[in-house]
Amino acid sequence: MAGCYPPVMENLHADTSFDLFARVSHGRTADEVVRQIELLLLQGVLRDGDRLPGERELSKRLDVSRPILREALKELEARGLLVSHHGGGTYVADIIGQIFSRPVIDLIARHRRATIDFLEYRRALEGMTAELAAQRATAYDRQALRTILEDMQRAHASGRFEDELAADVSLHNAIGEAAHNIILLHTLRACYRLLEQGIFFNRHLVFASDKARGDLLEQHEAICDAIIHADPVMAKAAAQAHIDYIAGAIREAERTGEWQRISQLRMQQRSVGRGD
Ligand SMILES: [Zn+2]
Repeated sequence: MAGCYPPVMENLHADTSFDLFARVSHGRTADEVVRQIELLLLQGVLRDGDRLPGERELSKRLDVSRPILREALKELEARGLLVSHHGGGTYVADIIGQIFSRPVIDLIARHRRATIDFLEYRRALEGMTAELAAQRATAYDRQALRTILEDMQRAHASGRFEDELAADVSLHNAIGEAAHNIILLHTLRACYRLLEQGIFFNRHLVFASDKARGDLLEQHEAICDAIIHADPVMAKAAAQAHIDYIAGAIREAERTGEWQRISQLRMQQRSVGRGD
């Protein structure tokens, strides 16, 4: 899961002109530190699986004493936002999966009705997200979109199917970030996680044919193009057309009976794989 996201912390380490942890210079209380790290989590700057810098470095960058830093980290851990690993290091906990509880996920997986609801919801959500992204994307956001799109185009050209699927999720995540709305971003990311886990439908099914892969690439290009050119109307329309296309592909697979075969396979896989 974390592999689908760029290693945010490392990127930011490399960029010394923008230091996430440099903002707490007054107050200098544990609560200030807690609030700052919470904000980074809410904004999606820190994501599940990201490793925080070591205690010495972090206390220096936050300009707080190590006891205060330790107190703050302890509180964040107690709240389940951070986790310490045995081998050392503090990581961002997996807080997104908790939007949907295990019983809800199982319920969704067992009923086709949920897929229809999901696509309906996602159509509205993606339209709004692309619209906001076209209005709010920063130069940094636009560059991130271009980079992911280029990866996607390369994966497509060389037939690296799994990489193309991974780029799909990365791209939608990046669009979500460019919309600059905390609630929207977290809801979207929870949805993408379900997608990656194949809860609703098998994404391989939608990406199955060369024709479909070509169509989907064009749709992704159209969405990015509209956002990069700051055209909210086009961006919204392109994002909704993308979801409409996916819904159509699923209906078609269903009509031909392929759906049933795949969903049965998926159910078997899920019950076999549920060792956790
Ligand atoms: Zn897509």
